[in-house]
This record gives sequence, C-alpha cells and structure tokens, in this order.
Amino acid sequence: MRPSPACPRTCTTSTVTVRSWSTARARRRSHRVVGRTSTPPRRTRTECRPTRATPCSGVSVTRTLSTSVGRTRWDRSSPPASRTSRRSTSAWTGSTPTGSSSASTSSNQAIDVELLRPRVSNAAMVSSASAGGGMRPVPLVLALSLVALPAPAVDPPASYEQMAVDLLREYLQVDTTNPPGNELKAARFYKEILDREGIPSEIDEFAPGRANLLATLKGSATRRALILANHMDVVPADASRWTMPPFSGAVKEGLIYGRGAQDMKSEGILQLVTIIRARREGLALDRDVYFLATADEEVDFAGALRALSPAGWRERLGRAEYFITEGGENVIGDDGKPQYFGIDTAEKGPFWLRLTTSGTPGHGSRPLADSALNRLVRALERVRQHKTEMKVLPVVERFFRDQAATMEGPRAEWYRDLRKALLDPEAAQALYEDREASALLRNTISITVVRAGYKTNVIPGSAEAELDVRLLPGEDPQAFLAELRGVIDDPQVQIAPIGTFRNPNESPTDTELFRIIERTIRRHYPGVPVTTKMLSGATESVLIRPFGTVSYGFTPLLATSEEVATAHGDDERVREDTMRRSVAVFYDVVSDLCRHRN
Ligand SMILES: [Zn+2]
Repeated sequence: MRPSPACPRTCTTSTVTVRSWSTARARRRSHRVVGRTSTPPRRTRTECRPTRATPCSGVSVTRTLSTSVGRTRWDRSSPPASRTSRRSTSAWTGSTPTGSSSASTSSNQAIDVELLRPRVSNAAMVSSASAGGGMRPVPLVLALSLVALPAPAVDPPASYEQMAVDLLREYLQVDTTNPPGNELKAARFYKEILDREGIPSEIDEFAPGRANLLATLKGSATRRALILANHMDVVPADASRWTMPPFSGAVKEGLIYGRGAQDMKSEGILQLVTIIRARREGLALDRDVYFLATADEEVDFAGALRALSPAGWRERLGRAEYFITEGGENVIGDDGKPQYFGIDTAEKGPFWLRLTTSGTPGHGSRPLADSALNRLVRALERVRQHKTEMKVLPVVERFFRDQAATMEGPRAEWYRDLRKALLDPEAAQALYEDREASALLRNTISITVVRAGYKTNVIPGSAEAELDVRLLPGEDPQAFLAELRGVIDDPQVQIAPIGTFRNPNESPTDTELFRIIERTIRRHYPGVPVTTKMLSGATESVLIRPFGTVSYGFTPLLATSEEVATAHGDDERVREDTMRRSVAVFYDVVSDLCRHRN
C-alpha cells in the first residue's frame, strides 16, 4: 500500500518555559573557551507538532494562527543575562547580513541545536520577518499549500544558514583523519542531531571505529530514491604548516578553517541541514531521501563498498535513481564573481602502478651502470618524457565551449572548438602544458613515490617507484599498460597495478536532476553558466553508477582557485558567506526533485 505523504507540521500556541541543561552544557563549553561561565538559561519556546486539523490532501488551505516565534540566534556581544532575557521574549529577528561581524561573533559559540530550531514553517517565518519582527508574538496568516509547486525562490530563514555555519564549525572539530579514520565519532555526531530532529537513522560499525550512517526521509515511493552522499573521513593535516589548528573550525576574516572544510564536511552539513529543513517543514515527498555518510573514501572506499554490499544497505541504496556527492567546481574569478557552476558528470579512473627493478648491489665507490636504481631512473625519465594522446570527450567539450563565452583572444577560439584546436600544433602544445586543461584531455601520469637505498656508500640491489595514473572514461587499462611497457622498453623493469582498478564512468545530462540544478542556479545566480565537468580525481560515484543510478558531483559552494587548492592542502577553508548562501540553493534542488506532485 502506498503510504500517504507526511503531514505538514504547524504550530500550536502553547508556550513552555524550560531550563535546558544540555544547552547550558554546550554554552559552558563555549564559554570555557573565552574564560566565562554562565548559569543554565531560561528559555521560552513554541511547541510544534503535526496537527490532525491540517488535512493531508492535495488541497490548498489558508488558516490564521496566532503564534510566537522562537528566537533562533543570539548576539554574543550581549552579556549573558541580557541574552537570557532577550531570548525569553521569543522574537524572530529576521536574517543577519551575510558576513557581518555579528554573524561571525555569534558563530564563535558552541552549537546549540535546540536554540536554532525554528518553531514555525518557512512561510510563517518569512511573514513574521516581513511584518517587522516585533518583540511580541504576532498573528500570522499562513498559506499552507499542499499542491505541487515549484520550489519558491525565497531565502530560507536565517536560522538554517546559522545552523549550517555552527554545525560545520562543530563538525570540523571531529578529527576523522584517515588513517585511521575513526568515522564512528562523526557518525555519532550526525546521529545525535538526527535523533533530536526525529529523523530515523542507523549506524553500521563495520570495523572497529569505522562506520557508515544512513538516515531516511520516507516518501510515497512513487519515484525512485535520491541519495545525498558525503564521506566523513579527511586526509591528514600537518598542523605545523597551518595558520589555524586543523581541527578547530576557527573563523577568521569570513573564512571557516578546518581539515574537511572543502573536502567534504561543508557539503555533508549542507545535506544535513537540507533534510532537517525538509523534515521540519513537513515536505511531502514522492521519493525517499537518503542521507548517506560513509567512511574511508580518502583511502579505499571501504565505507561505500560496505554500504552498497548486501551486508550493508544495497537493498535500499541500489534502487536509487539519483546520487549527489562531492565534486563539482564553482570558481570565483579575479573580479570576485562566480565564473561558472560545474557539475561533475564523469570522472577519471585511478590506475596506480608500481615499477620494480633489481640488480647487483655493491660499494658506492665503484659505480654500476646497470644498477637497479640506475635502471629505475632511466625508466622514470622515459615515463616523464612520454606525451599521452589528447582526446576530446563530450563532457569536456561542453565544459570548454561554455567557458569560451566568457573569454577573449585565441584561447576563446580554441575552447569554442576544441577538436579543431588540437589540430593546430601551437594550440595543442599550449593546452598540453596547461595543467588544468591537460588533465581533462588525456590520460595522465604523476611519479609520486620512489624507494631505494639505505646508505650513501651502498648501491642498492632493488628499487621501486609508484605512478599515479588517471585514465579517461572509456580507456582500456591493459592497453595503457602495454603502451607504458613500450615507453619504458626495459624487460628488467616490472610494472604491476596496485589495488583494484574501477572502470571510470559517467552519467547523462538529459535528466530531471540536471535540469533542476540548471534552473535553480539560474534563479539564484542569474547569468552564471552551468556546465559539465569531468573530475580528474575519483569519488564514490564510480561505485553507484553501475547500479543504474545517475550520479553527479554537485555543490552550490563557491571558492576561488586558491581556496579550492586547500583541499588536501594547508589551511583548508571555506567562505562563511558561500556556506550561508548555499543552504537555500541546495534545499531548492532537493525539494524540487523530491516533493510530492499530483
Ligand atoms: Zn572528498
């Protein structure tokens, strides 16, 4: 039997004064940081419950409610006593200007999820804010529409933006450096929030300390599910090279610092806030929405492999229609404006190789021309000199063509017709030498590891090196291996793959999700082109696409090239303003794709 869509939540007028120890604890934690203490606060809140009085049908209902709206944030510049009394007035204060000093200072506190919880629907809050945001409860006219409507292009309440910033800062403090990962800590961080929100979730600890989490918003199952996927682990950070502690979530000059700020805890929090908002607003869904947080993406995909296995959640996840994960690239240009929104529809496949040689060891005072290390050096030099063929895939062709519109000079000509450009030796050479362009046009080889020797005066008897090879979608790894053997041309140098090779794959762009992303970006960022991208790295998309699931790397977060480069680098950071602005964009995409339609 088809379950009925969830009832929208509305607000009753009951007002409860509570003394919250859990929130007081959180506040004490934050005060300890700045050397202050406080007593548990009194707090007034408005109760929200699903109401039977609201019919769950495809009929528009207009009703008048008198409600008090819980204050959702407070200004840290106020003394604690003043904060408490102001909070108890239950006034909605409207949105905070993006990037303002008050936004930054208020986000210095530890997160208080209860405090951030808005107690009325989005429509009610917008009405309240536009009514002047008075200090007393105000009567509101709520238009509760259950009919299928496109996602409204209105800003969400500031509470969700503040929630996203605060949750990200707290999440960045959870150290999930992989190895060893310890993603169980992050899964518990998520679960505690999801439990409070009444969103069912489960943790699968598949190895000690290693865990995945799956949360579910149930829909009517008229359409196949959407998976919002994020990995919880991060790569190691060398704190001595950072200007901020890597697990601090510190904010400086509008930037939020922390390992994972780009890759990909910020995206995880956007996904989390989206399902929280959908749940609070009683968004009726035609498809299940899964929030999937995985372990071990940065090393071996152990978490995603587990989640998609029969022992994990294959039964549910394997039937999904869409999968949104990390990737995508939305670059801010030198003029401070977004240049384009790039959606990853394809990615290259890592094909890691190990080269080994052996030979006669000996004293360093009498050189051996064909020593193991000399052979390896010769082989590596041949690999370094080798030029792989440039090829134009449709996804890449579109990306270059879309960029041409905003460029000038000969490069615009090349980008407009890439195939023609590659026939021109000068253009082909320039594109080959352009690090970013080149990675999209050919199989690449980076020499990343060399091991040999242990003492300056000993010629080693063996030597090895590792190559990070990235193949374009559609390439045959065995053919590439044969090509490389020919290049090295030395039978005493053995070449063998490291680990499992997964065929790189791609998703079509002629889909409802792609069109919704285009439409949503156009609405929020008029005039900024939406284009396709191929990721030169690898994501969990490669594992889900074989199930017949369309997978995109998509994020609304903007970054300069310098900020993008901090992923896996030093001082990883994300702009607070883009975090705030992305909350509405991401919610609009998800709600537009999943909302109930008649
Ligand atoms: Zn990542």
